[in-house]
Amino acid sequence: MPRRNRRNPEYFHAPEPVDPSRTTPDAPAWASAAGFEVRTVGGQKPYRCPGCDHEVRASLVHLVVVPVGDADARRHWHTECWRKELRRLGLYHPPHSAM
Ligand SMILES: [Zn+2]
Repeated sequence: MPRRNRRNPEYFHAPEPVDPSRTTPDAPAWASAAGFEVRTVGGQKPYRCPGCDHEVRASLVHLVVVPVGDADARRHWHTECWRKELRRLGLYHPPHSAM
């Protein structure tokens, strides 16, 4: 088996390079959808993910989704749960570099 960075937990927590000192960087291109404003956040406290109804742990990098024109309806999603939601809505466009 190839040797991997198993002993470095941060390797798993941050699949994409995110500088925690910066606030609300843009979400990955695939996460954007018409009618929603999507941001990546680090999370200072836990939230409830509407996709799986489980907790989004504090410090976990995840997405904030705000329906355009309805800031009160903002929700915190696990990145993968939002991806599934977009698939469900038929709005998911995978990045061209995926393969
Ligand atoms: Zn979730």
